Formats: sequence, structure tokens, C-alpha cells
Amino acid sequence: MFNQFIQKYNLPKYRISQLYTQYYKNLISSWDELSTWPKDLRESLKKEIPFSNITFISSTESQTKDSIKVLFKTPKNNYIESVLIKEKDRNTVCVSCMSGCPVGCIFCASGQMGLNESLTSNQIIDQILYFARYLKGNGERVSNIVYMGMGEPLLNLENVPRSILTITDKDKLAFSKRRVTLSTSGYVQNLRIFLGKKLGVKLAVSLHAPNQKLRDMLMPNVSKKNSLVELFKILDKYTKDTNKRVTYEYVLLRDINDSVASAKELSKLLKHRLALVNLINYNENECLPFKKSKRTILFQKILQENGITCTVRKSYGEDIKGACGQLAVAQWER
Ligand code: SF4
Repeated sequence: MFNQFIQKYNLPKYRISQLYTQYYKNLISSWDELSTWPKDLRESLKKEIPFSNITFISSTESQTKDSIKVLFKTPKNNYIESVLIKEKDRNTVCVSCMSGCPVGCIFCASGQMGLNESLTSNQIIDQILYFARYLKGNGERVSNIVYMGMGEPLLNLENVPRSILTITDKDKLAFSKRRVTLSTSGYVQNLRIFLGKKLGVKLAVSLHAPNQKLRDMLMPNVSKKNSLVELFKILDKYTKDTNKRVTYEYVLLRDINDSVASAKELSKLLKHRLALVNLINYNENECLPFKKSKRTILFQKILQENGITCTVRKSYGEDIKGACGQLAVAQWER
């Protein structure tokens, strides 16, 4: 974000360090607070670099006060959303990497919008900084970041890795790589390129089906061109090379992918793999025909009986339309 400015003004190291410290670590809320810089330099910065590349529109807090969803607008007038999930031991920010999503999973509200715009790395970072400043007011910090908001991170291969470098740079946001998770729907070739960058962040895969046929139905755009066989080839290599576990997300849709047979098939698929299954209760949306499963506990039990580590994702903010993309869709349709 600052490279051109730094070059143009030939800034010495100590000025760059002052800027990064104030902006990324002290979390100033406007350029006027960059008091360690002389006024003329600060004024130039103010004229040339927007303090944020996205505009806050609204925020909604869940009744249980454990999640806050924020709607932002980009300069191209597209909406994006980010969520802060508060738990006892962590504050996780879920960022979007696109407005809308081109993957078009048939159960997902973001998927129905199609792609409006891919975000720049600065726009991704701005979502994190927004919540970091918000939490600072309560003496708290963002502890974890997940790329699980709107969009497919591996279809924004220029800006997502760039944003990860800023997040994990010790002079900038300085997050441990273990506290950053990228979630993909499974674009094999792009996953290969991403893993080749060796950014060291954790990996999650939106699986949502235990076999090719059902995945083709639920996630046609990605599934038909990226078979489960090819996907697992690269994931198996990843776990072998890194000894890191992959998280598999599985949204339970009533009478679609939540049968006992599906649970057994999923168990078989993951049995000898370093895997954690994260079951997700579906947040129903009036625009889509899918229903929340009634078999979550049974599904989890079957996986566990088959030796698969399995958690059920705590459902955050159903009352704030907390499922993927729904808040932005509501705004979009106004
Ligand atoms: S579930 Fe994720 S990948 Fe699929 S359409 Fe929604 S945002 Fe895109």
C-alpha cells in the first residue's frame, strides 16, 4: 500500500518504521494521528493515500453478543461483509476476498450474486484493521483470521497471498501463520500454485459432499473441473510434506447430504487422512430451498465412531443473518 509513496518521498527507514508502527500496531484511526511524522509529510500522505479502501456501511451484533457482522462498500459500489466472532479465548475475523462469488454453490447466498469484484490486498487488510481498531477500544485484539467470507480466495491469487504477507509480516500485522486459515472450495491448479508460495497458513477445504456426484450437484462450477481424485492427490501431498491437518467443512443440508450413508461414505473418504471435519449447521435463507439438517448429532457420532475427528461449528448470529453472504445480499436487493 505504501511502496510508491515511500519511493516517491525517498523515506528513510525510521520514517517507514514510524508509519508501520502507528498504522498496523498502534492502530491509529486517521492520518491526523500519525503524530510522529512532520505535518507536511503527513498532509502529503493524507492527499495521496486513502486511510481505508472500503467504506463502513452498517454493523449488526447478534443477540448473544458473540458475533458482529459488518457491511462495507468498495469504491466501485459493491458490498462486502466481514464478521468478528468472539469466543472466550479468541477473537476471529472472517474476511471476504471478493464481493459476491463466482463459484455459485447452489446452497449459498453469495454464490447467487455471482462475482461483482475481486478485492485488493489493501481492501482485505482494511477489514482486519477495522475490527482491530474496534477491539482496541475494549482492550482486546484480533487473534485469528480466516478467509471464509465472500469469495473464493484461490480465484484471487494475486491479492490474497499479498494480503497474507502483510498479515504475517513482523513489521506490519505480525500474526503467527498458525493463526491464519485459508478456506477454498478446491481449485486444484490454483491450490498447487498457492501451496508453492509456502506461506505456511492453515488450510481448510469446503467439501460439502462425500462423493463426486453429490459435489457436482452442490458445487457444479468448481467440482466438475476439479475432481475429488485430483483434489485429494494434492491434499495428500500437502499433509505428507507438512504433516499439517486439513480441515474439511461440511454444511449439513436436510435430506441432501446428511444421511447415515453420507456420513459413512465421508468417514471412508477421510479415514486414513490427517483430517478434521467441521460440520456446519445451515442458516436457512428465504431465497433458497435448502433446510437445516436435523441429523447433526447423529452425523457427528458416525464420523467419530469411525475415528474421524469432528466438530460442529458453533452457529454464530443466526439472528443477524450470519450465513455466508446473506447480509450483503439483503443490502444488494434493496
Ligand atoms: S459457499 Fe463459498 S465458494 Fe461457494 S458460492 Fe458461497 S462463498 Fe462461494
